[in-house]
Amino acid sequence: MGQHNAKSDSSDDLKPALPELGTTPCPVCKRRVTVFVTKTKRPFINCGYCAARVFYNGSRSIRLLKRQMKTTSQGQSG
Ligand SMILES: [Zn+2]
Repeated sequence: MGQHNAKSDSSDDLKPALPELGTTPCPVCKRRVTVFVTKTKRPFINCGYCAARVFYNGSRSIRLLKRQMKTTSQGQSG
């Protein structure tokens, strides 16, 4: 068998997936991808089509992201 970690930095057992904010078009390939949130409350996308990863740091980029992001939880037609 392999190694065993003495310290457990994060429990992956009953850990839920990263929260999803919604979907936004990928700035690279323009496909609609899911927006996740990191532990530091920063939204980021991990495009499964072009493999681009975009982190939104700062209030301005986050604000722009939320404007073009479609949230699934709130019923907002538009
Ligand atoms: Zn992409």
